[in-house]
Amino acid sequence: MTQMPLPPAHPAVFLDRDGTIIEEVGYLDRPERVTLYPYSIAAIRALNRAGFRVVLVTNQSGIARGFFDEATVKAVHGHLAHLLGAGGAHLDAYYYCPHHPDGHVAPYGGRCDCRKPARGLVDRAVRELAVDPARSFTVGDRWLDVQLAQTVGGRGILVRTGYGALEERRRPADVIVDAVVNNLVEAVGHILSAHDRAVAGATPARS
Ligand SMILES: [Mg+2]
Ligand SMILES: [Zn+2]
Repeated sequence: MTQMPLPPAHPAVFLDRDGTIIEEVGYLDRPERVTLYPYSIAAIRALNRAGFRVVLVTNQSGIARGFFDEATVKAVHGHLAHLLGAGGAHLDAYYYCPHHPDGHVAPYGGRCDCRKPARGLVDRAVRELAVDPARSFTVGDRWLDVQLAQTVGGRGILVRTGYGALEERRRPADVIVDAVVNNLVEAVGHILSAHDRAVAGATPARS
């Protein structure tokens, strides 16, 4: 019997939501409170065109804490998809962790395997989107977003928007970061140049 070739695994960029794509406003409980940073559409569109899977990964402990429900998060993501789509950009998936160890709303309390920096949401992208974590990046405004990359064998980038400027001043000793940049558009510039170098290295040179 002939062995079927394995499906190709795709590089991905895992994007944090609050403070990275949209303004950090605390617990975001209404779609009307979504404000995209001015460069987010162009930055995500560039990743789409470069062939990355672009995946939102967000901790939404407000669900476990009873501040809003999953339907609210889905409405926020629907609105975000609409705003991005109007500019020709898209996210391939919207993944969120609804849990928190101290959450009092059943069934979301207690430990889980998907609250960043735990790897559950990335593992879901591996299953559902054929993503290769080792060729992937994470971008976020918290060290836990960078630590997620470290956990799955990818490369993590910290942006200074949202909590990022504050986070930069209290870097954990054991964190490995690929770059600290001002915002998402700079992060995408870094990713695309690293990606181009990797592609060039994998292709036999012609002369
Ligand atoms: Mg954030
Ligand atoms: Zn979770």
